[in-house]
Amino acid sequence: MALLPRTRLRFLGRGGLLLVGLAVAVPALILVLLGIGLTLRVAREVRSESARYNAYVADNVTEAFEHELLDQVRDAISPAEEVARAGGTADDIRRALASRAQRFEAPHFVPVDDLTGYSLVTVDLQLLVYGGDPTGAREHPFAAVLLRGPTGEIVGAGGWWFNPRSFIAEHLSNVVQSQLVSNPRLYGGISGTRNLAVQVFDANGNEVARMREPGHTVTSRTAPLSGPFETFRVRVTPTRDAPVVITDRIMLVELAFIVLLAAALLAATVVGLRHVRRQIQLVQTQASFMANVTHELKTPIAVIRLAVETLEMGRFRTEEERDKYLRTITKEATRLSQLVDNVLDFSRMESGARTLRFAAVDLRDVVESSMESFRLRLEDEGFRWQVQLPDDLPPARADATAIQHCLLNLLDNAVKYSRQRKELRVGAGLRDGMVTLWVADRGIGIDSANQKRIFEKFIRVETGLVHDVKGAGLGLSLVDQIIRAHHGRVEVESQPGEGSMFTLLLPPWDAASGSPPAEARSAQGS
Ligand code: ADP
Repeated sequence: MALLPRTRLRFLGRGGLLLVGLAVAVPALILVLLGIGLTLRVAREVRSESARYNAYVADNVTEAFEHELLDQVRDAISPAEEVARAGGTADDIRRALASRAQRFEAPHFVPVDDLTGYSLVTVDLQLLVYGGDPTGAREHPFAAVLLRGPTGEIVGAGGWWFNPRSFIAEHLSNVVQSQLVSNPRLYGGISGTRNLAVQVFDANGNEVARMREPGHTVTSRTAPLSGPFETFRVRVTPTRDAPVVITDRIMLVELAFIVLLAAALLAATVVGLRHVRRQIQLVQTQASFMANVTHELKTPIAVIRLAVETLEMGRFRTEEERDKYLRTITKEATRLSQLVDNVLDFSRMESGARTLRFAAVDLRDVVESSMESFRLRLEDEGFRWQVQLPDDLPPARADATAIQHCLLNLLDNAVKYSRQRKELRVGAGLRDGMVTLWVADRGIGIDSANQKRIFEKFIRVETGLVHDVKGAGLGLSLVDQIIRAHHGRVEVESQPGEGSMFTLLLPPWDAASGSPPAEARSAQGS
């Protein structure tokens, strides 16, 4: 095996990675907060602008109604005006008023002496007289203009009783669309009302008239009407396609996108950094793996060389001593060959080049032959062992050599990771329809946090106890890969300080299918 070139590996530590993460996350977070802040600010501005505009329009609707009323009165008053100017009597004036009463309820003339009790407003520099019926006979108000006699003196107010409710309903759209928009005296005119819904309510809150559907009530504004319409109030609300509604909608979408973007960015940073960390760990473990393997190879070679030299030079005193050296050579050669097998097998499994030849395998034979080849080592290390094989066991669908390799790895670990209590139990059996092979020891055990990790390649539990023992962290990963390629699984039960039990579960050979021994390319995780 080629030795690794001596390169010094420099990696970002936890702190470095955290710094990289912060370097990405902090500006991203600031950007997100800025985005949210700006979006909210723009939306708030648009809202308050909309609310201001709605209040302004609502205020002006009041005046626009009075204007419309005055226009209507002026439009119909000319016959009565002529009669008054010609010096006609009150009755003549009433008749002239009656001739143009179609738009109103009834004509009415108030002589100048009776005008007290009526109100007077200036609308667009003209006077509008209005008020309720002092006799109480009429339910609705009166709207009129002052009439002048032949010498220009005021003779009274001529006008009509009218129904404000139906007047509002009839004239609302005109009031909003022409009076309000086109009248430059109303604060220079209102540029456009096409995105506004205007509703008028009576004193009981019932809707009297509406123009367009209201969309967004958040910025709607209400104002009381005045003059002859004082018991009503107007509400101005943006329609569904008003800029404020669109802005609000866009704001929500924008906020959702910003939050999504932030989440995606953070997730990408976290996942990316985790990935980098894993890769760094992998490279580090690979580096320590190479160091371990090199050491693992050197140690048995050195021991074998020493033993062979001793034997060659005849530097042994007794036959037993010679046998001891020979046994050492066998033991170390076995260890060496198992390590080489593991490394080669591992790279074959990793590249998918290893072919498994499935056949009906009696796992009892696998146990017996493995124990046979392990006997010497167990005896040497002073182990007591027990083999438990049932009389009857269905064959497993397996590659016998690969399974034996797995079992030898488990036995090797059981021996390596046992301390004072050198006891081993090995057996085969049947569980949940799967054929099992198991190895139990009374060794150092594995804590639950590490029971999954030990099947990862190059992973060795980082405890002092394991550090004393040589290993490359490949055995269990290989076992796991081989058993998965068999469509089986590996289970471990272990208590630190009590011992461990590894069980291989393999599918039974399906005799009914009569299938010839199948071949399977090993694949990682298959
Ligand atoms: P290696 O033994 O070469 O380190 P393995 O892949 O065979 O590699 O085992 C991985 C790790 O699992 C070992 O380093 C050890 O920490 C733990 N382990 C495996 N088998 C046992 C066992 N029987 N008892 C205690 N720990 C074990």
